[in-house]
Amino acid sequence: MKCPCNSSKSYIDCCKKAHQNIHTVNTAEELMRSRYTAFVLADIEYLQKSHHTATRPSKREKKEILNWTKSVEWVRLEIINTTKNTVEFKAYFMECGKLEVIHENSFFCKENTHWVYKNAQ
Ligand SMILES: [Zn+2]
Repeated sequence: MKCPCNSSKSYIDCCKKAHQNIHTVNTAEELMRSRYTAFVLADIEYLQKSHHTATRPSKREKKEILNWTKSVEWVRLEIINTTKNTVEFKAYFMECGKLEVIHENSFFCKENTHWVYKNAQ
């Protein structure tokens, strides 16, 4: 399977590595891509693990995120700009038959020796 994060690699050679061991992630962009793919695959445990503890969704929010991501059809990820700690991206998805987009500049940092998503800038 081609990796959902829109890289030219297969899932096995791309985001699966991060999903199996978050410590293999080397950059903010890699973490961002692996989180997008986790949304596509509804891997909520990875989404929680890759979220900074200060901003991590609660148990109730976690359930809502899981239900939401299962209810939409992810189309593609577009990386617009990256710095050491930020990734600006557009994530396209179909919801209720309409194409929607999340356009965000996300901030990433390290926590417990691995990269995590902290918040939108
Ligand atoms: Zn990927």
